[in-house]
Amino acid sequence: MKVLSVASEMFPMLKTGGLADVAGALPGALAPLGVQVRTLLPGHPKVLAALDAGAKVVAEWPLWFGGPARLLAGAAAGLDLLVLDAPHLHDRAGNPYLDANGRDWPDNAQRYAALAHAAARIGWGELKTWKPDVLHVHDWQGALVPAYLHYLGNGGNGGKKQPATVLTIHNLAFQGQFNAAVWPQLGLPDEAFSMHGLEYFGDVGFLKAGIQFADAITTVSPTYAHEIRTHRDGMGMDAMLRWRQAAVSGIVNGIDTEVWNPATDALLPARYGAQDLAPRLANKREIEKRFGLTADDSSPLICMISRLTEQKGIDLVAQHIDAIVATGARLAILGSGDAGLEAALRAGAQTHPQRVALRIGYDEPLSHLLQGGSDAILVPSRFEPCGLTQLYGLRYGCVPIVARVGGLADTVIDANDAALKAGVGTGIQFADVTAEGLLEALRRAVQLFRHQPADWLRIQRNGMAADVGWRSSAAEYAALYARLVAKESHK
Ligand code: ADP
Repeated sequence: MKVLSVASEMFPMLKTGGLADVAGALPGALAPLGVQVRTLLPGHPKVLAALDAGAKVVAEWPLWFGGPARLLAGAAAGLDLLVLDAPHLHDRAGNPYLDANGRDWPDNAQRYAALAHAAARIGWGELKTWKPDVLHVHDWQGALVPAYLHYLGNGGNGGKKQPATVLTIHNLAFQGQFNAAVWPQLGLPDEAFSMHGLEYFGDVGFLKAGIQFADAITTVSPTYAHEIRTHRDGMGMDAMLRWRQAAVSGIVNGIDTEVWNPATDALLPARYGAQDLAPRLANKREIEKRFGLTADDSSPLICMISRLTEQKGIDLVAQHIDAIVATGARLAILGSGDAGLEAALRAGAQTHPQRVALRIGYDEPLSHLLQGGSDAILVPSRFEPCGLTQLYGLRYGCVPIVARVGGLADTVIDANDAALKAGVGTGIQFADVTAEGLLEALRRAVQLFRHQPADWLRIQRNGMAADVGWRSSAAEYAALYARLVAKESHK
């Protein structure tokens, strides 16, 4: 099975979000299952710099809207890459999507159309030496690939079999919608600018095109796959997704269980395993020291590691700091984002200096310490395609307290009475992302922590035993590819 993954970013070369982690982890997880993955990336300076010395030019494909472009094949960080090297599109340092002022690059439509078109050419066999069975494209940046295959495939490939296509949606909030003025730059026939093609309320919709034409549409958890088909969470795409219902499924993300392993994590002052959680106390003391919180072993130390946005429910926390402190919990918050939310949290921390502390910034080592020493991690998101911090929490015995949405609902088992009796709870969920829902969840956490230490320990250990790696999710992707290829060969 040969798969071309088409992504706009990939860990460890270039990362702005979870897409990069998935693109970086899946090839390694799929290899033992007999799936060979090559990844097509744009030639961002960081990607070109990471390519090893053996990289070769395998095609020269000047762009139809002008400018040279070539395709490089090589490896970086042990990953098998194809890189679209079109300097006028991608030779820009910094964030791949935004200019120095934080605005979308004005030619983003052309930039990712060029990437998708190159993927389609590889897909219909122009490389001669390597032709994928499946094109697995990610988010709006890859979403034109199924459209190019649909409209140009038969012309370009002399009638050869098309590869199957999978579109993975990592966050439906980003849809790649552009003014119709970009249309002539996309190299598609005019008939494609219609309701049944790429047109979306008068604009050009890249993600819409992918939803329209991909053979399979996945997102990063089963619950999010359901939610995006509802009016409430569908962000204007729900009707399309309902129409493609039979093609939609959810596969949860895994985490790197080597990087995130409390038994070997060099970023922790004290390492530990599920058998003996006592060393976590030394980590907690270090957090209290670094955050300036008073040690109080009757009060659970609850961390948050998050972008500070409304999606993540940070406003709710900021507005109810007094009530949160009144539950008996202490808060250590690490994050950055919305300036207003930062200010509101800072004010809360000033009111409760012993009980609430805030660190603004992005600090990977500190995030490990927080997972390795806090009693719990709070994730009150309004929507959450998959979420990673609750998975790290499970692995580190840092009990996740989560809103019952998206991937949070799928990866945490609520430790209600029945679950406690059955010995299966791994965290605490709350259904309503409201002050009352949040406070009730915190009260339950404080009660369990303070008065039911055996149950608390059981919850921690259940979480640490949960399967949060990539193995089972990779098997689901492999099974999906196999189903699509079998279907394609019967066409
Ligand atoms: P999203 O991708 O929506 O921001 P996820 O939970 O899927 O949310 O992934 C967020 C990732 O970023 C996690 O790996 C988390 O640990 C990390 N992270 C978020 N904020 C910070 C921060 N301030 N410092 C360190 N790591 C952070």
